[in-house]
Amino acid sequence: MDDLRKNALLQQDEPPAVEVVNPDGKSAAFLLCDHASNRIPRKLGTLGLSEAERADHIAWDPGAANMARRLSALLDAPLVLSGYSRLVIDCNRPLDSTQLTAPVSGGVIVPGNACVTDADRAARLSELHQPYHDTIADMLDARNRRPTLLLSIHSFTPELDDGPRPWPISIAYGEDDRLARLLIPALREDGTVVGDNQPYAVSAWSDYSIPVHGERRGIPHVLVETRQDGIRTPEAASAWAGRLADAYLRIESQALRLT
Ligand SMILES: [Zn+2]
Repeated sequence: MDDLRKNALLQQDEPPAVEVVNPDGKSAAFLLCDHASNRIPRKLGTLGLSEAERADHIAWDPGAANMARRLSALLDAPLVLSGYSRLVIDCNRPLDSTQLTAPVSGGVIVPGNACVTDADRAARLSELHQPYHDTIADMLDARNRRPTLLLSIHSFTPELDDGPRPWPISIAYGEDDRLARLLIPALREDGTVVGDNQPYAVSAWSDYSIPVHGERRGIPHVLVETRQDGIRTPEAASAWAGRLADAYLRIESQALRLT
């Protein structure tokens, strides 16, 4: 074992920082799942958290990966998923964010993030955050002028400090609402209550994936948040993926005229 590997965060037998599903998918849709996993590199142990805390929404977006995988299959769309917990490094936070390695998340103290040194942070960035985003950037570069619509798949907790959240699904965006203006009405057609930038909007100070891969490239995009109590099982996640795929397919040709 050379010095580089000895100091590495991920050991050779651990899963990679990024997973790509259906890279040659023919759809214009390009899917991301920033908070797909609650896995923690072996070297960091449990980050000082209980099993229940590591299974909770502070560590990942429960249900989002199942929904994204099903959507990828339904649309024949490429999907990029991050391989490790957002508590190790949050792949949807800007590089200067204090929440990149959150010392407290959802009111829970994360002991393993109490004293993250510059070297620790650099390793988490270079081994987890950067490979995930480099993979997305390389795949988007390779599409060249092929029409692309970016959907970033997340899930949100049914209740937080702001009280109960009435929307089973929400569409979020920042400066560019082109795709949202089509997708929100399409999702509402069957009477579904759809959040419009609720409970979160996308911004360059709180988000990374949409600002970098969507806004900067001029690719129409949305961040899709599904409420976690609606996608607890793979079957329920599949059902929501089906609803989202149906709505997307109804507006895809219109959306592609934006590109
Ligand atoms: Zn998320």
